[in-house]
Amino acid sequence: MAPSGVKRVLRSPREIKLMRAAGLVVWQAHQAAARILQPGVTTAELNAAYRDTFARCGAEPLFLGYGGPPPFPAETCISINEEVVHGIPGPRVIKAGDLISLDTGCRLAGWCGDAAVTHAVGPISATDQKLLDVTLGTLNLAVELMATCNLWSQVAREMEALVKDSGFFVVEEMVGHGIGQNLHEPPQVPNYFSEALAGSEDFDLRPGVVLAIEPMVNIGTQKIVCLDDGWTLVTGDGQASAHFEHTIAITADGPRRLTGPPVADEMSGLPDWLQDAERWVTW
Ligand code: MG
Repeated sequence: MAPSGVKRVLRSPREIKLMRAAGLVVWQAHQAAARILQPGVTTAELNAAYRDTFARCGAEPLFLGYGGPPPFPAETCISINEEVVHGIPGPRVIKAGDLISLDTGCRLAGWCGDAAVTHAVGPISATDQKLLDVTLGTLNLAVELMATCNLWSQVAREMEALVKDSGFFVVEEMVGHGIGQNLHEPPQVPNYFSEALAGSEDFDLRPGVVLAIEPMVNIGTQKIVCLDDGWTLVTGDGQASAHFEHTIAITADGPRRLTGPPVADEMSGLPDWLQDAERWVTW
């Protein structure tokens, strides 16, 4: 039984298969954007790569029109350097040395996928590279621990420790989430340990649990601030932030990245431009 009153549903293998189909569309959209990402491209052009991929795959974008007021105006959150998450695409031109966080989600045949990646554009500083490595490492650690830990609090404790040991800061105001037929479902999935998480907000990990896990890590401060656009969250000190996310299902064979790259029997459904695995961007 679940250790608390936190609601979490278990998905059947059939439902996880449907979520994988949605996740593979999210993965394709991230590939389309990564192919055009270079200095000189605008964030609106990157967003169009997501919009076009979702349209081609018959998927519903889930970020467009989300929340508000004002409702989020694009298919993808694009957050640069000190922007943590929820940046709005527009005319801004990408420069060499930027860190570009891309976060998107879609619904396909009734089921959702959600994933984020932070790219380095050209050469970046050693500190920024460490930030990317630590943030991705925190996501990968969480996936690995989901194979053996019984409770999310145990995973969150280790995620927080990894970030703290690196000298960086976990964002606490934004957390991961359950995901299924809707983008955001219970439970909340924090990337840090707390007494509340050890108590009434904890939940168990077992086959059928599907979570969007998304550590956000800042170089210099835990503090984040919302800009006047009502969406963009930036670090309190102007230093960089990074964000990586996958939709993860715990299956009988262990944790599986539903928004990860295709395996052999999924290749036939992909367009020609995605058939070369050496050109994939993976995280
Ligand atoms: Mg998410």
